[in-house]
Amino acid sequence: AVVVRRRMKREGKWGKAVGIVKEFEEKCGTPAAKLKLVADAMTVEMHAGLASEGGSKLKMIISYVDNLPTGDEKGIFYALDLGGTNFRVLRVQLGGKDAGIVKQEFEEVSIPPNLMTGTSDGLFDYIAAELSKYVSQEGQEFQLPPGTQRELGFTFSFPVMQTSINSGNLVRWTKGFDIDDAVGRDVVTELTKAMKRQGLDMNVSALVNDTVGTLAGGRYSNKDVIASVILGTGTNAAYVERAQAIPKWHGLPSKSGEMVINMEWGNFRSSHLPLTEYDHALDADSLNPGEQIFEKMISGMYLGEIIRRVLCRMAEEAAFFGDTVPPKLKVPFVLRTPEMSAMHHDQSSDLKVVENKLKDILEISNTSLRMRRTIVELCNIVATRGARLAAAGILGILKKMGRDIARDGEKQKTVVALDGGLYEHYAEYSKCLANTLEELLGEEVYKSIFLEHANDGSGIGAALLAASHSLYRPADSS
Ligand code: BGC
Ligand code: MG
Repeated sequence: AVVVRRRMKREGKWGKAVGIVKEFEEKCGTPAAKLKLVADAMTVEMHAGLASEGGSKLKMIISYVDNLPTGDEKGIFYALDLGGTNFRVLRVQLGGKDAGIVKQEFEEVSIPPNLMTGTSDGLFDYIAAELSKYVSQEGQEFQLPPGTQRELGFTFSFPVMQTSINSGNLVRWTKGFDIDDAVGRDVVTELTKAMKRQGLDMNVSALVNDTVGTLAGGRYSNKDVIASVILGTGTNAAYVERAQAIPKWHGLPSKSGEMVINMEWGNFRSSHLPLTEYDHALDADSLNPGEQIFEKMISGMYLGEIIRRVLCRMAEEAAFFGDTVPPKLKVPFVLRTPEMSAMHHDQSSDLKVVENKLKDILEISNTSLRMRRTIVELCNIVATRGARLAAAGILGILKKMGRDIARDGEKQKTVVALDGGLYEHYAEYSKCLANTLEELLGEEVYKSIFLEHANDGSGIGAALLAASHSLYRPADSS
């Protein structure tokens, strides 16, 4: 009798846990009709953000890039790509017409976590020191004529109000960075001062967001690239807008008639977004409450954390992991998205990967197969919602550009360059994104749309933009 009662109690709790998952799944629902409303809201906000400064949650930042790489870029350039937990330094030798990229090298350096929430000088001194080390290891083939200043493209992947192609003030931090004294300052000035302190003499000739760098890098290899999307730690998109369609732009007329816009779509928000109690709690506990709501639903920094929060509730209210709540489960951000992805992709019949991850990360052992299945289901719910919303965002851009409809007789190709760890490594996510876009556009239109992985295009893109905006021009270039 005792055994039976215990089992009944256990099944009752199981039922409760299943109920929590079911309710969560319903709240996360993204039927096509809803996604179309999200896409329309995105288009509306794009218009509003272009109309006036502060006119929308979408900043629609003018990048000052009105010419994308053509292939004629020539010379030796450096780039610094800062935007997540790592930064990259690279150098490229551009050969000009037909020659393309003659040689490129890069190094990746991780940022000590304490510097992400310290001081501006602390962060920039570290970066400049690493850059200086990298420059000092420069080989023969990268050496410039004596007395020539090195040129640097700076990819800085946070919202920056650009004031020119190579200056701009930090609007706010995202993605776990929180350095108060840097907000409002010109990040190129900060970097340049730090380089001086290191005795490093370099000219920053272009300051670009990673989306803008990716667009430039993508265009260099494919002339049909018209937009870019980053799905990594954070998320964002950039695209080529007609200068005429930017009422808030009062600067010099663009020679090309175009202007690249850094949307900062991570800050998008709409009543159509399927937000749950877990999203609200995550936001409230974050370093930037009320901001980056779209980002918090779709990007790599947060997906695992959403799941952790659901699991916490299941542990607390339905004893999902037994009589006590596993202490590790209470640690914010312990469940990282790469781990979530590994569990989601577990192909073994007994879900061995899930079992091991739960042991290694959360110190939970003795999980049953049905528990592990439930966890995979949670991964699927969260990844699917994120990927489908990202697809809706892309649809919003295509609508704004008039590329969401089939045009008779036109063979116009539309290429979107995508990059970021989430897109690159989370196969279920990227597959779902592509399928959703097809579902939303219809098979016919989707035939003209190409999602292309622009591998680490943001660094190369910055180097290319440094090239087209540099002071130094090789003697033999026209
Ligand atoms: C930043 C963007 C950036 C994106 C992807 C977001 O958190 O606000 O500037 O492009 O992350 O790195
Ligand atoms: Mg990156």
